[in-house]
Amino acid sequence: MRATDDLHICGSCRRPFVIPDAIVSAPHGVEGLVAELRCTDCGWTHIGAYAPSAIEALDRALDLSEREIRAALEICELTDELERIDGFARALEEDLITPEDFHR
Ligand SMILES: [Zn+2]
Repeated sequence: MRATDDLHICGSCRRPFVIPDAIVSAPHGVEGLVAELRCTDCGWTHIGAYAPSAIEALDRALDLSEREIRAALEICELTDELERIDGFARALEEDLITPEDFHR
């Protein structure tokens, strides 16, 4: 019934980049939901019927990875900022920046 143990893991490249392209209710007689899954990394697609709980787990995995990406991005931005401040402080220490720089 499931492509892999974890729907967010790609059945081809095994990386956690699977998203649901479409989710529809299963035809009569089929349990669960029919989902079209797609790996954003390698392009693998899979259509299958999954238990609603598996789809919910995929949703949660997507939420989690989105939060992780956001957090990583914030750390990157913070690191950039700190490097800029660092560079500025170093330039001040080495007298590369003088008051004249601000009066042009
Ligand atoms: Zn893949």
